[in-house]
Amino acid sequence: MNKPPLIITNVIVFSALTLLALVGTPIWAIMYGFDWIEIGTAIFLFYFTGMSITAGYHRLWSHKTYDAHPVIRCILAVGGAMTVQNSILHWSSDHRVHHRHVDVNDEDPYSAKKGFWYSHMGWMLREHKAKRFVDYSNCKDLQKDKVVMWQHNHYLPIVLIANFGITGFLGWLNGDILSMVLLAGVTRIVLVHHVTFFINSLAHIWGSRPYTDTNTARDNHLLAFFTFGEGYHNYHHIFEYDYRNGIKWWQFDPTKWMIKGLSYLGLTSKLRTCPEERIEKAKLEMQLKYAQDKAILLPNTEEIIARMEKEYEELVQRMSDFYAAKKRLMNAKKKNLQKTYESLELDFKCKELKKNFEIQKQKWRSVYSFYFEQQTA
Ligand SMILES: [Zn+2]
Ligand SMILES: [Zn+2]
Repeated sequence: MNKPPLIITNVIVFSALTLLALVGTPIWAIMYGFDWIEIGTAIFLFYFTGMSITAGYHRLWSHKTYDAHPVIRCILAVGGAMTVQNSILHWSSDHRVHHRHVDVNDEDPYSAKKGFWYSHMGWMLREHKAKRFVDYSNCKDLQKDKVVMWQHNHYLPIVLIANFGITGFLGWLNGDILSMVLLAGVTRIVLVHHVTFFINSLAHIWGSRPYTDTNTARDNHLLAFFTFGEGYHNYHHIFEYDYRNGIKWWQFDPTKWMIKGLSYLGLTSKLRTCPEERIEKAKLEMQLKYAQDKAILLPNTEEIIARMEKEYEELVQRMSDFYAAKKRLMNAKKKNLQKTYESLELDFKCKELKKNFEIQKQKWRSVYSFYFEQQTA
């Protein structure tokens, strides 16, 4: 099979950076060592530039999950450019195609169905999508954003000045320019590259699919830890307009915490979340599906499926009763009816329905484990 031609610039840039990070940095560490200021700067820039991609390129610009103050947008635009992952406009255009045509090999720019290497880095090394390389018609909204267009039109100078200017200057202040550029510049770029690329490769291969199995995206706690919270990729692919990827408060998603934190300062606003009911419903549908898949392997399939479906229907009913009551309560609160008899009654009803929903959830779980976990134990 004829492979598309190599993109020489990308091959040279990736090879040079990788070689310097893998060979140059360890040799330098052995011969001269790195001091704590250099290590601290590299760690800071790793988080700052990595989260400029997740909070900026990804959740702000590609998916418009919230609004940000122009100062924040400028900072994220510079931080994002420092990761050398192309401009916001280009990145977001690719990413929107990825969501729209996920796993479709001819359309998805980094389709996971083409294997780990292709979705990780291979897609950037050859002219796979030469025709639509500068087609930004799916980002007309972004073309109206002055910060996006400024960054796009001056991408290369921003990359060079921000990366080597900043690290070079800090190195000069610290007494060793080369050492700082090597660690906080080059090595940090390579590390941020791979943690970002893991979201296209590993997060589509390794992990669970609690919300949907219509695509390859996975939820993976460990990956979330290394990707600034983007490892909850199964959730993200079904509810891409949610500013969170890890929706539970305890799920490691520093990008979500930062966006929320900035909202208290008035620097971010209109944070979008998916209604809880839709999230729960998607999860339950998947649980029923997994139960049906497992039941097929057992001798009394029909009986088990019938029982599971009965419990599931009861659960869905109780869930919608609870959320309907919750909605009525919220509306009553909005109308300032907090202290009226009506709102007290609604509050009581809501708590009761929530309890019923929780009880049925437990019942659902115990029926599930009775049939499936015991059999496999
Ligand atoms: Zn996305
Ligand atoms: Zn994806």
